Amino acid sequence: MSSRTLSGKIALVTGSTSGIGLGIAKALAAEGAHIVMNGFGEVEAAQAQVKALGVEVAYHGADMSKAADIEAMMAFAKERFGGVDILVNNAGIQHVAPIEDFPVERWDAILAINLSSAFHTTRLALPDMQAKNWGRIINVASVHGLVASVQKSAYVAAKHGIVGLTKVTALENATRGVTCNAICPGWVLTPLVQKQVDAKAAALGVSNAEATKLLLGEKEPSMQFTTPEELGALAVFFCSEAASNVRGVAWNMDGGWAAQ
Ligand code: NAD
Repeated sequence: MSSRTLSGKIALVTGSTSGIGLGIAKALAAEGAHIVMNGFGEVEAAQAQVKALGVEVAYHGADMSKAADIEAMMAFAKERFGGVDILVNNAGIQHVAPIEDFPVERWDAILAINLSSAFHTTRLALPDMQAKNWGRIINVASVHGLVASVQKSAYVAAKHGIVGLTKVTALENATRGVTCNAICPGWVLTPLVQKQVDAKAAALGVSNAEATKLLLGEKEPSMQFTTPEELGALAVFFCSEAASNVRGVAWNMDGGWAAQ
């Protein structure tokens, strides 16, 4: 086990009960990091998948839209493991509507969960990372942190925001062993995107397979989903010593989406 590259490190992954967060948690655990998980839904099943990789797993049910919950989660990680070495800000939600019809409550929730939560976890994780002179902060942004799509005002604003937060965090720590980078996936077939496929199938009266092809065809030249496993491998690279001078990048893994 000691040959694993992240042995003994503590990683906290927000929104790790599903999709990309679970994929990244598993990739970090496969390299030996102990994991603090967070998120809703199938908590037990998700924890079991990470525990099976032979690391310690803790769970905190903080609602990432609430600063007080986030403070409690970071205190829990400190008490349980002595702090966080690797912070992955991944929790996120989506809502699709034109600006004039966008529910104010959904705007507030998306900004809180997809952007402000990362400010809170980062401000609380940094002092320990700075004291140790080692830390990795990985923000799961989106290709929507780089380019826009219609009907996603809150999501695109939050994701552009987190790319900006990534750069500031990287710059403020540039002379330390603490890096911050963003990952910008294109389409990944998780529950968050399955809802958009289902909505397209219903709106157009087409099959799920046809709706999937249309969804990919609109944006993603490779016509392939990026996988949580591929994103997990990129996160492991950002945590490696080889990536110690990779600072403030927004790295898209998007099948060519943003290259168009
Ligand atoms: P998902 O719905 O599968 O997972 C979201 C996770 O966040 C779940 O664990 C959920 O419980 C958690 N979560 C949601 N609201 C929460 C809250 N208030 N407090 C705590 N946890 C909460 O979605 P996903 O596709 O895996 O998305 C993960 C991240 O990746 C998001 O930030 C999303 O914007 C981003 N992303 C997804 C895609 C994609 O195509 N799926 C593309 C680009 C970026």
